[in-house]
Amino acid sequence: MSVRLTAWYCGLFSLSLAILFGFVYWTLDATLRKANNELLHAQVKQFADTYRDSGIAEIQRDASQKRSDEFLIRVADAQNRTLFASLPDGDALGPDALRALESRVILPTERLFTVSVGKGGSFEFANTNLKNGSLLQIGRNGSRRHIILGHFVASCVEVAFPVLLMALAGGALMANRALRPLSDLTATVQGIVATGNLDARISQEYTAGELRDLVISFNRMLQKIEALVEGMRGVLDNVAHDLRTPITRLRGVAELALRHPGDLPGSQEALADCVEESERVITMLNTLMDISEVETGAMKLHLERVDVAELARQLTDFYGEVAEDRGLTLCLSAEGACETVADENRLRQAVANLLDNAVKYTPEGGRVDVGVKQTAGQVLVTVRDTGIGIPPEDLDRVWERLYRGDKSRSQRGLGLGLSLVRAIAQAHSGDCRVKSGPGAGAEFTLRIPVRQRP
Ligand code: ADP
Repeated sequence: MSVRLTAWYCGLFSLSLAILFGFVYWTLDATLRKANNELLHAQVKQFADTYRDSGIAEIQRDASQKRSDEFLIRVADAQNRTLFASLPDGDALGPDALRALESRVILPTERLFTVSVGKGGSFEFANTNLKNGSLLQIGRNGSRRHIILGHFVASCVEVAFPVLLMALAGGALMANRALRPLSDLTATVQGIVATGNLDARISQEYTAGELRDLVISFNRMLQKIEALVEGMRGVLDNVAHDLRTPITRLRGVAELALRHPGDLPGSQEALADCVEESERVITMLNTLMDISEVETGAMKLHLERVDVAELARQLTDFYGEVAEDRGLTLCLSAEGACETVADENRLRQAVANLLDNAVKYTPEGGRVDVGVKQTAGQVLVTVRDTGIGIPPEDLDRVWERLYRGDKSRSQRGLGLGLSLVRAIAQAHSGDCRVKSGPGAGAEFTLRIPVRQRP
């Protein structure tokens, strides 16, 4: 890629250079021609004036004084016979040019003309009509122009070679610099594929513009993937850890029962323990799968019209007894109709988890308030308690899978309740937020947008 880019750059540069040189060559040629023609015209005019004023003898005198000059001067009669000719000094092609003039009939209207002489040589002439039908022709060897143009071409070639070399070096440098982020990107991807190490990043040192945006986005993507993989690793570790405890307990209970085959009541108790433990494992796995389904967008909602106030009332009744047993006051306040289209079972699961936590984490004598209201196109379910509260550093973490607060470990729980609540809220395009402080109780607000149709 780098070589191809350099080749393209050099190709285009050479083409531009050739066009530039061509244009200068053409302009120089045209300028030299014009200057030559003007000079010839001036000479013709001067000698014609001399002829008109003083006749051919004066032309002869003027020409002999200018013998060292580069002009061929010829006066011919109406039959193209040479009356007078003066050849340019030291120009071997002069006699040939004169012969060419004598063998060719030039009309007085041909003001400028060129005759070929020798091998590739030429003479350029200006021509004018004198009195008596005679012609005055003054010419100059065209090779002078060719020599200047030749010098120009030679200089161009001399300049072009180092310039092209510099362009090649510059092109290679630029291509290398421009493609460096792409090479870095390829190297990084290959490194990740080979080692699985996601903490590699691409340097932004040599990037600018769109490539810089690409590098930044790529690094961000890597960062996100790394965080996701880390998160998944953490969840897997936690799941493995959290599964080991109930399964070890299950095995212990079963082994103990097997050691006393005659003890029927003991065996039955062991079986009941086993069922309870396996229930716990199944609940944990099901909840984990529910959360994953929401995160991957695979959760199927059975949408129907739900009266959220009624749902909260049923749950408050259900938890009323538990609250009473724990010496808590549980109150519900529902404002007006709070209906929306949602998955009733999932919604029940979410509100139940919030209520369950409130009852669980509020010590005896405390209070739990459940509020339901509809506002700004949303149904809000608020569960407020006067319990142990959540320290500020845990406020974000309580939504993580399998996270359990330090002070909560004495209570039963899997650390999955709030993750599921948030997942269900998100599956309904809503959300769940918490306000709390240590010892100041907690207030969870579940927001579900009001929908009229499934
Ligand atoms: P679990 O209750 O099974 O531990 P959750 O996901 O429901 O798991 O809650 C995560 C953590 O959030 C809890 O361990 C607890 O520390 C904290 N938490 C949740 N609800 C409350 C609450 N009402 N009061 C105080 N802490 C709470």
